[in-house]
Amino acid sequence: MAEALDNDNDTVMCDSESTMIASHVEDDEGPSRKKRKTGTNEEPSERLEQRLGGILCCAVCLDLPPAAVYQCSNGHLMCAPCFTHLLADARLRDESATCPNCRIEISRTSASRNLAVEKTVSELPIECRHCTHVFPRHSIEHHEEKTCEERVTGCKFASIGCLWRGAARVAGAHEATCERPALSAGEVLDALAVRERCAADQLRVYTQIFDMLSYEKITFNDLQLKPYRTDEFVHKLYYETLRFPSFGHHWC
Ligand SMILES: [Zn+2]
Ligand SMILES: [Zn+2]
Ligand SMILES: [Zn+2]
Ligand SMILES: [Zn+2]
Repeated sequence: MAEALDNDNDTVMCDSESTMIASHVEDDEGPSRKKRKTGTNEEPSERLEQRLGGILCCAVCLDLPPAAVYQCSNGHLMCAPCFTHLLADARLRDESATCPNCRIEISRTSASRNLAVEKTVSELPIECRHCTHVFPRHSIEHHEEKTCEERVTGCKFASIGCLWRGAARVAGAHEATCERPALSAGEVLDALAVRERCAADQLRVYTQIFDMLSYEKITFNDLQLKPYRTDEFVHKLYYETLRFPSFGHHWC
């Protein structure tokens, strides 16, 4: 038990440490942590993709960027969310954003995308979170959502009320024994009526929004979005406006 608690503490410390890197780029923690993670030259047995992963990771969060990769004018890499955070944090402090590695100024105009890194990262292997088989990153989404045998899926008779959920691998076996197809016409109609009621509720919300947007007298107000952070999710940046009345409701 004590050991488990220790592990938990370790995890918490790591999390807050990486948060510090993200929000206080002046700290020297970022580069030194990167060295710890990427200092793999002493271990020649490590595979090429792992060594590449260490080189192509984001300088701030040390993860492999899932989409766009930005670089400072000296070539240091940042994933899109970290890049946006650096710019937003600098704006909060009324300063210019700087690269966490070399301190050179970064902005939307001075930083550029690095397509070669983006493409290389998309070819690196990643483990499926359901079946743990390894795939190139660019195809993992399709595999996890459409073809993985271990992904959670529903029964093909869900539209007539079957609530079964389970691994795709056993969905066929369930459907072969599913009781839904044996329902009487009356029971199927009841199930369809429930489904239609849900669809009608959703439609009502959309119709309300469309009605609001179709008002003839529309006035425009400028709203200022103020960035703020909470103690609970220090690494997340939120934006808020002052409360304002509209369509009989108060918004913010
Ligand atoms: Zn990052
Ligand atoms: Zn740099
Ligand atoms: Zn899988
Ligand atoms: Zn079923």
